[in-house]
Amino acid sequence: MNIQDYEKFDRENAYYGSDLGALIIDNKTQFKVWAPEASAVFLNLYQEGEGDNLIESNPMIRQEKGVWAITVYKNLDGIFYTYTFEYNGVRNETIDIYAKACGINGERGAVVDFSSTNPKNWDNVKNPECVIPCDAVIYETNVRDFSIDITSGVSEKNRGRFLAFTESGTSYKGTATCLDHLKSLGITHVHLLPVFDFSTIDERIPITENQSYNWGYDPKNYNCLEGSYSTNPYDPKVRIREFKEMIKALHENNIGVIMDVVYNHTFESEKSSFHKTFPFYYHRTKNNWFSNGSGCGNELASERAMVRKYILDSVEFWAREYKIDGFRFDLMGLIDIETVNLIRDKLNEINPQILMYGEGWTGGETPMSSAKLACKWNSYQFARVGLFNDNLRDAVKGSVFNIYDKGFVSGNIHTVNTIKRGLAGSVPHSQLIGNDEACFAYNPSQTVNYCEAHDNHTLWDKLAVSTENFTADERIKMDKLSAAIVLLSQGVPFLELGQDFLRSKPKIPNDRETDKNIPFNGNSYNAPDETNSIKWNQKAENISVFRYYKALISLRKKYPQLRLRKRECIESQMRFFNTGDSSIIGYTLENNDPKSKSVIAILLNPYTDNKTANLPEGEYTVILNSNGEDELKLNKTISGQVQLDAISALVLLKK
Ligand code: CA
Repeated sequence: MNIQDYEKFDRENAYYGSDLGALIIDNKTQFKVWAPEASAVFLNLYQEGEGDNLIESNPMIRQEKGVWAITVYKNLDGIFYTYTFEYNGVRNETIDIYAKACGINGERGAVVDFSSTNPKNWDNVKNPECVIPCDAVIYETNVRDFSIDITSGVSEKNRGRFLAFTESGTSYKGTATCLDHLKSLGITHVHLLPVFDFSTIDERIPITENQSYNWGYDPKNYNCLEGSYSTNPYDPKVRIREFKEMIKALHENNIGVIMDVVYNHTFESEKSSFHKTFPFYYHRTKNNWFSNGSGCGNELASERAMVRKYILDSVEFWAREYKIDGFRFDLMGLIDIETVNLIRDKLNEINPQILMYGEGWTGGETPMSSAKLACKWNSYQFARVGLFNDNLRDAVKGSVFNIYDKGFVSGNIHTVNTIKRGLAGSVPHSQLIGNDEACFAYNPSQTVNYCEAHDNHTLWDKLAVSTENFTADERIKMDKLSAAIVLLSQGVPFLELGQDFLRSKPKIPNDRETDKNIPFNGNSYNAPDETNSIKWNQKAENISVFRYYKALISLRKKYPQLRLRKRECIESQMRFFNTGDSSIIGYTLENNDPKSKSVIAILLNPYTDNKTANLPEGEYTVILNSNGEDELKLNKTISGQVQLDAISALVLLKK
């Protein structure tokens, strides 16, 4: 299409009705699609999600604002459909971008009566409470990785699938796995890698036998669920019902569900359903071709009226239909700030407790003005939306772009100031100098603190390579200190499943990973289960590490001063003190609530030796030692100076 001015085009042509897609109304089914430049549009009805079984094909009628519509005087629940668009005499068939259900491999949409997809008692399923974002403890996992390994203890029929999350009582050699593990650790939200329909896994092959693997950052249908995670991807309702069963089970255990959403690019460019529906409207362009701000071949033009509306409609659909508790925006830096703020407004209308955060960067060069993008450097313009704190991540363990680089826990004391900034929620603080890059958050809720996610090497693998000369015991201390920094920092803590039991992603023969000297996979998006799956035996083998993480989470939940909600609170309730050594960090956090008044002091020792550090005045008791134990009951009082174990965190309560 040769549209010079999209703003003008949108003013004249945008359609704001809420009825795009297939809609069952009484005994009729209405189809509507926006395609103002098409010369003809047809609705094709099919019996199945694939194959030669066309029922009929009918022209749609052009209405106001370039919407094409047709009403079939039947309830088409369970029938499959596509559209054919004609541009310049050329016809292309595609799935409806607004399809909310689909058949095998997402090739055809399906008309579905959603009221018939609800599990028993679904209407009474409530979103778990999360009063402020800093109350959350987010735990990232992938549906397939979670249970595909035999050590998960999940029944074979559910392994690698949504329903695995509904199985309680699973264990490996007496150690809780899967759902029981989530409950035991005490996390508040499970963050799932993509569960919307993605492209590169052939759903016809059962996941337990499927040699292909993909995380799912290859979007095909934003409003449909991925079929390979269901027990029957041919029946559009099965994946919907099973995903709801999963959410129900997690909600009943007081665990929220966060979706990873990838509204920044589509897997296909020319062949994508968006391009077939309206060429070059949904994607940004440069020199009359797809621009590549995502690094994946194209990028969505979120600033255009109907793309923005599409994203808003999609997020709203997931939040309402599936009771989703949070959204993580992949490459959010490619989405324009106005759209990001409108999404937050929309979520507030639905449920203000729904979490929203994203990656504040892009994957390549975009033609969009950098002033308009929801990137980290513009953070104050979308202060209600969280951002991954890569500054803290790299300060903790060393840069993710250089596996040999060290961080605070591995003895790189040059990172002390960035660690302090992270501990203080990445907001301004009068005791910290400068307005550096790491000081990006308007309020602590704007920083998502982490030191491991699905991208890059696992924390344990990074430590193994970057601290080769240290003992495994010392590396375990480094892992635990990393977790302490994440969970004792102001902001929203984020962990990856398995981090709490030293997850590793060993390379396998013929791995595509390029650096031959490194035995671990640092970009495992399409590596096989052998690399990616959670090996639950590792939890049993590293149970003391798991217990330490659990103790940190429990401490964080117990003391509200670890979850301060505003920048002003951090200024007034958090104080760094002089430990006697500038590399040993010490700070106090006050809780001024008259009913639960308390002061805690936290010390972080990066040295490989035991150290003595100064304390602020007063008498203290240890509430979290390097083994994760609470010594309150011992009634032992410390004042003046305190002994710190090598590479460890110590948390004290003032008497
Ligand atoms: Ca798929």
